[in-house]
Amino acid sequence: MNSVKVIEGDITKVQVDAIVNAANTTLMGGGGVDGAIHRAAGPALYAACEKFGGCPTGEARITSGFNLPARYIIHTPGPVWHGGNHGEDQLLANSYRNSLKLAEANGCRTVAFPSISTGVYSFPLDRAAEIAVRTINEFLQTASHVEEVTMVCFDPVTAKAYRNAIR
Ligand code: ADP
Repeated sequence: MNSVKVIEGDITKVQVDAIVNAANTTLMGGGGVDGAIHRAAGPALYAACEKFGGCPTGEARITSGFNLPARYIIHTPGPVWHGGNHGEDQLLANSYRNSLKLAEANGCRTVAFPSISTGVYSFPLDRAAEIAVRTINEFLQTASHVEEVTMVCFDPVTAKAYRNAIR
């Protein structure tokens, strides 16, 4: 059965077909989960990302997982929160949907997401969780390869927000 799950943990450690990186529009690495993924994947990831020449907010790009247990890394810049009247909700939904489309196109069955935009980008957590869960569930209804999507939350407050959004 297709479903969204929530776990607490480090996304660089999960064994899935694809993990998603909450990147920035340069795709050249940064802090937070982006920095952790680049450190764990190794320098070949940086070289692979350089070739894209950046990525607009809400779109996604795919690379190999290099030294990670995941086969692929899907990089998506989520929106920076500017108060909610700058298309933030739609852009966040686009990040989830476009990441899942790439996973589907690459035959992935299992996909793991971090909590996109709720760190340095300051998107309100409960609102982000609701958008994420809704967008993932909508996608799963029509997906043929993607079956299992896991939200990998780095702290208990974040995990609780996504668990609430699933109910
Ligand atoms: P953004 O710039 O999109 O807000 P951040 O990396 O600042 O991205 O934060 C997004 C979320 O990722 C936050 O909840 C942060 O705590 C979390 N995070 C940081 N490191 C990891 C990791 N190794 N695994 C999973 N989540 C992580």
